[in-house]
Amino acid sequence: MKLLLFSPFYLIHGQRVCPACSHPQAVIAIGTKDLVEHETGEADELIWEHGQLQLLTYTTHLPPIIQDYLQTSCPTFDLRTTVAGGTYFTNSCSRCGQVFGDHHIHDRPGSVYFPCTREEAMQLARQKLPFEGAFEFASAYTNDSMSLIETNARVIV
Ligand SMILES: [Zn+2]
Repeated sequence: MKLLLFSPFYLIHGQRVCPACSHPQAVIAIGTKDLVEHETGEADELIWEHGQLQLLTYTTHLPPIIQDYLQTSCPTFDLRTTVAGGTYFTNSCSRCGQVFGDHHIHDRPGSVYFPCTREEAMQLARQKLPFEGAFEFASAYTNDSMSLIETNARVIV
């Protein structure tokens, strides 16, 4: 779906043990507290999410300026095809190349970006990205466990 995201944007840093080679691998997710979703269907609808952290999932289009930035700072996050067959921006293992589908790091309770306890949320760190303004993304988003993440993730300046 088409999303319009407003700055500030965040990178949420986490870690996951690669299921293929057991290498501990840094992963990222993109967050914002302000987005507009344009839903086209029988009735055009605008959905505005404001004030609570939202994380992007299954992202198929990034603004070029943000894509360039991530290619340099987080090269294991890129447009990839997962085992399940979807092609979107997601994380992979720097050692063996295994692609981590968003299902495994966002959708499952207890996974990296779906912490169920304070301790799990404390494994995450939040970094503000140096971009100002409104940008278009093609992406889904999730806000499960976001208050846990907002309260407990470390802040990287
Ligand atoms: Zn691996």
